Amino acid sequence: MFDATGALYIVATPIGNLGDMTHRALEVLESVDLIAAEDTRNSQKLLNHFGIKAPMMALHEHNEREQADEIIAKLHSGKSIALISDAGTPLISDPGYTLVSRLHDQGLKVIPIPGPSALISALSVAGLPTDHFCFEGFLPAKTGAREKALRALKDETRTLVFYEAPHRIVATLTSLSDVFGEQRVVCLVRELTKLYETIKRDQVAELLEWVTANPEQKKGECVLVVEGARTIRDPKIAEIEVSSLLSGLLTKMSLKDAAQLAADLTGQKKNALYEQALDLQNSQGTHRE
Ligand code: SAM
Repeated sequence: MFDATGALYIVATPIGNLGDMTHRALEVLESVDLIAAEDTRNSQKLLNHFGIKAPMMALHEHNEREQADEIIAKLHSGKSIALISDAGTPLISDPGYTLVSRLHDQGLKVIPIPGPSALISALSVAGLPTDHFCFEGFLPAKTGAREKALRALKDETRTLVFYEAPHRIVATLTSLSDVFGEQRVVCLVRELTKLYETIKRDQVAELLEWVTANPEQKKGECVLVVEGARTIRDPKIAEIEVSSLLSGLLTKMSLKDAAQLAADLTGQKKNALYEQALDLQNSQGTHRE
């Protein structure tokens, strides 16, 4: 049994398949004094399915600040509370951040009960690098704002993950193709853990064509996992680019300045760039010291 006194449990719940409810999540939901849910009507169905009878309160983005006061008071009085969202892990593009931040400020206990999340599930099947990734949540709904956001991410070398609403999937793939180029690889991960689960990876222009030709792909819930910018991530290409950058800089400035400027522009280490520039200078005979 849990020593749940005065703790807030952040409980992950299934993203479609109730079989993904964890044993520990059930134990916690059965033992807490109160369950704070994003949408109490929606969560009631989940709780009914598992025969859980704990009282509920609503905590959504519009009332989080006020409800946080009430939750904090209850935690101070020794009550235990679980936070759940409509699906998946709370706080991941879901409410709860303000509350958890305040709990830390007040030295109150926050305990994670890990489980499903569309973000991690999508990454795990997309077949794109996962050693570093960048979760961007939802892109703006309007085309201009969406493309502006994408332009700022165009050169991001880490794998990018976006949540997307089904009715915007064509518009977003179009923006991705326009801003990142038609050949950027994207994995569409749709209806995870559900009957019509789809995982389709292709160059964005091909994927867009496929989604447009298959209207059923514009339904349900989806995640887009997008390949990072290739130029800098591929070490061979990066080497050629840095080398031509240094060659150009060496015709205009000293070795030291060229290494410094290249370090500022590429984010690479100055000492290594200095050595590379020295080699280039020796092989090209360009001296401006
Ligand atoms: N907190 C949740 C989590 O941990 O995954 C995410 C909540 S966010 C408001 C909802 C978005 O998650 C959906 O619009 C969709 O992009 C993604 N999502 C949730 N369930 C999904 C599923 N079964 N398959 C694919 N994407 C899903």
